[in-house]
Amino acid sequence: MQIVTEPRQMQIIAEKLRLNRQLVGVVMTMGALHEGHLSLVKLAQESAGTVILTIFVNPRQFGVNEDLHRYPRPFEQDVALARSAGVDYLFAPEPETIYPENYQTTVQCGLLAERFEGAQRPGHFNGVATVVTKLFHITKPHVAIFGEKDAQQLAIIKKVVNDLNLDINIVGAPIVRENNGVAVSSRNIYLTSQEHLDASVLYRGILHAEKRIAEGQRDLFNIAEEIRAMISSTPGFRADYVEFVDEESFEPRKTAEAGREYRLLLAAWAGTVRLIDNGRIQV
Ligand code: AMP
Repeated sequence: MQIVTEPRQMQIIAEKLRLNRQLVGVVMTMGALHEGHLSLVKLAQESAGTVILTIFVNPRQFGVNEDLHRYPRPFEQDVALARSAGVDYLFAPEPETIYPENYQTTVQCGLLAERFEGAQRPGHFNGVATVVTKLFHITKPHVAIFGEKDAQQLAIIKKVVNDLNLDINIVGAPIVRENNGVAVSSRNIYLTSQEHLDASVLYRGILHAEKRIAEGQRDLFNIAEEIRAMISSTPGFRADYVEFVDEESFEPRKTAEAGREYRLLLAAWAGTVRLIDNGRIQV
């Protein structure tokens, strides 16, 4: 595995790979690698001959009161994990090379970026879209794998790629969960052991929705209310949003129609830690 830190060097390597008719797959992360990230690497290996993993804690997607400075950065451990997963190139730039002095250009997302996570974190998705677009131009992939864990991010990246005619195949990867259903996340280390156990309430909410739909309940607003109550009755937990959206358009939906697919989006605070999760709901 070759470690690359300079954008220009990464571009030269990526261009050579393309000239050698290699299919290039990319997995973009903020590091603190875990099973979720490694499942993305595996999917990338299944769809491309060469895999580039990027590690970059992107300052532009953190709000002023967020965890940019305390975000975990176990670089040596990440290098070892990436190597043993069979990653071909690890691209880990410094913030100054991605955003040099007098950097000005950003990718501005549309309406979808203002809801849900975007409402809570203004500017977050513009930061994501900007760095993802830059990393696309630096790594020149044919295919890019993103986790369904961040379902809104995945939808926004698909929109950026479509709207800007980027010639990249975006693949969504299923959520990797712990035994009790908690979605694996780099931020789970901020949870106390009790909060970590109780965090399964989000997954239990998804299971509850599946059960209610199977029972014939079609009032999505009502199901969401029940899940909000489950979260609020967990000590130290506070629901932020619990909403069903159409799987295709990501538009909020209050009533389920037979034969359609929805996505249940959940966000909650466990003390000071923000948790997000989601699940596909087939009616
Ligand atoms: P992050 O390092 O949190 O920015 O995540 C990098 C990529 O890994 C994103 O595409 C995430 O959606 C994905 N990811 C994070 N956690 C999981 C998980 N538990 N299961 C699947 N993918 C994940």
